[in-house]
Amino acid sequence: MSSKSNFKNVKGTRDILPLESIRWQRVENVVRKKMEQYNFQEIRFPTFEYTDLFRKSTGESTDIVRKEMFTFADMGGRSLALKPEGTPSVVRMFLQYGFFTKGILQKFYYIERMFRQERPQKGRYREFRQFGAEVIGSSSAETDVELVKSAFDIFNELDIKGVELNINSIGCPKCRKNFIKELKGFLKGKLVSLCEDCRRRYDENPMRILDCKEDKGKIKGAPVPSDFLCDDCRAHFEEFENRLDFFNIKFNIENRLVRGLDYYTKTVFEFVNANLGSQNEVGGGGRYDELIKFMGGEDTPASGYAVGIDRLMLLLPEKEEKLGVDVYLVTFDEESDLEGGKILASLRQEGFSCDKDPMKRSVKAQFREADRQNAKWVIIIGENERKRGIVQLKNMNKGEQKEIPMEADKIVKELKC
Ligand code: AMP
Repeated sequence: MSSKSNFKNVKGTRDILPLESIRWQRVENVVRKKMEQYNFQEIRFPTFEYTDLFRKSTGESTDIVRKEMFTFADMGGRSLALKPEGTPSVVRMFLQYGFFTKGILQKFYYIERMFRQERPQKGRYREFRQFGAEVIGSSSAETDVELVKSAFDIFNELDIKGVELNINSIGCPKCRKNFIKELKGFLKGKLVSLCEDCRRRYDENPMRILDCKEDKGKIKGAPVPSDFLCDDCRAHFEEFENRLDFFNIKFNIENRLVRGLDYYTKTVFEFVNANLGSQNEVGGGGRYDELIKFMGGEDTPASGYAVGIDRLMLLLPEKEEKLGVDVYLVTFDEESDLEGGKILASLRQEGFSCDKDPMKRSVKAQFREADRQNAKWVIIIGENERKRGIVQLKNMNKGEQKEIPMEADKIVKELKC
C-alpha cells in the first residue's frame, strides 16, 4: 500500500521492518552467545561523545575524522560527534572507570550503532550497526587469534560462507620509522601523479597511501611494512600465523593492508567476502598497543575488531522467517472474550505468545486474523463452552480440535505436549 505522506527516512539510514527484524535478532543472539562463550563482557556506550575523543584516538588524518563524522555543537558550544566507531569509547571507558590493573585482562564486547557521512550505497549507510570485541591488557599474538576466531565462530554459527581473512603486520613505532623513511623516498618523485588525498597523506600518514584504491597502479613496487619489521614484531606476526594455522583458519597475507585508522600497531586484519561487491569488507581490526598510553593511560597493549552487522545481513542465508503467535483467541460473545482474556494472561505467564482481537469483530474476522498471525493454536470459546466449562483447542497445523477443561494449567499441559 503506498502512502501519500511525504515523510521518508533520512538518506543513508535504514528502517528494519518486523520480518527483517527476526533476522537481526537471530544475528544479535548468536553474537551475544558466542561473545559470552569467549568470556567477553558486554558494554554499552553513548551515541555521541566529545569530538576531541575521535580527533585524538581515531586520528585527525583519517577519512573518518576529516570527512565522515556527524558533528554538532551543544548549547554550551562544545563540539560533539555521533560515534563513527567503537574503540575510542571503549578506551575512554577503560580509562574513565579505572579498569586498569597491571597484569589483568579486560575483555569487552559491544553491539552498537555507528554514524558516518559516507555516500550511501548497498552495504554502505550513514547509520549502521557493528558488533566488536576488544581485549585490553594482553600483548600476545594468541589474543589476536582468539579475536579472529570469535568472529569466525559467529560467521559459522550463522552459516555465512565465503568470508576470507586478510592479515598483515604494520610493525611498531620503532620499526615503522625506517619503513616510513623508505616509503617517503619511494613516493617523493611520484607525488604529483597521486590523488589529492594521498598528496596530503604523504605528510600526515604516508603508510595509508599503500591502501589507496585510486593510486594502486601508480605505486607498484613500493616498500611494504612487513619488510621492515623488528625482531619482536616479526616473531609476533609469525606466532599469529602459526596459531591461525593451528586452528585451521585460512588467511592471505596482504602486505599492503594497513587499515584506515591511526592507532594500529603490529597485527592488522580484515574479513572480506567477494559476494558483497564493492563494499566487500565485512569487518576488520588489529592491535593498538600505543593508544591507551597516548590517551593518557598506563602503557597497556590492546587488540580488537569490529564487524558491520548490516553487511553481515546481506550474507545471511534466507530461512523461512515467519511472524507468528503461539495462541490466538476466538470468541463468540463478550463474556467469553473476558474469560478468554484471563486464560491468555495465564498462558503468557507460562511463556506462550498470545493475542486476541480487541475490536469485537466477527468470528470469521477473528479466524482470518489467526491465520494472518500464523497462530499455532486457536482457543475457541462461546456460550456453550462456557456453560460446559471447556474450551475448544484447535491445532492449526494438524487441523485437529479438542475439548479441554477451561483451566489454564490443563491448556498449558496440552500446548506443551
Ligand atoms: P571500520 O570501523 O571502518 O574498520 O569498519 C568495520 C566494519 O564496519 C566494516 O568492515 C563494515 O562491515 C562496517 N562498516 C563500516 N562503515 C560502514 C558503513 N558506512 N555502512 C555499513 N557498514 C559499515
